[in-house]
Amino acid sequence: MKVINRPQYQLLLGKDSMELFEYFDVDTLHGLNVVECALYPEMKHDVYIAGMSNYSPYDVLHMKKPKPFTFINTMRLNNSFEDITLLMHELMHQAMLQYDWMIDYEEQIISWAEAEANYLLKHSIIPSYQQPGIITMSVEDKRQLLLELKK
Ligand SMILES: [Zn+2]
Repeated sequence: MKVINRPQYQLLLGKDSMELFEYFDVDTLHGLNVVECALYPEMKHDVYIAGMSNYSPYDVLHMKKPKPFTFINTMRLNNSFEDITLLMHELMHQAMLQYDWMIDYEEQIISWAEAEANYLLKHSIIPSYQQPGIITMSVEDKRQLLLELKK
């Protein structure tokens, strides 16, 4: 498990769903079961847990101590736009938890998730999806290319 300590939560990047149970050393986790998980034939597009955001199982009073977690099953990342929507999905759950489901903070909640997703993607903490056929170039590279094309 790759563990990234963010200020308000722990980002857990697992190679499969089993790692989530192993990380917390539990047999059940928020209604999910390690035996069911072990029996589930995980494949790139079909996994037992794609992602999960919740309190730590050791935070029985929901005091956010230890920090809540967001788990992403990296087996489910396929260099597809669905990687990004999965990340945003899980960070929305995390944002709701951070704001104690106070829907009056809707804009702040969604913006928190968006900013966090941008941070994780910008810093390549989550491999970013590159749309096929689109080559991103730096401004400097574009200028250099333009100069060469004009020769
Ligand atoms: Zn969900």
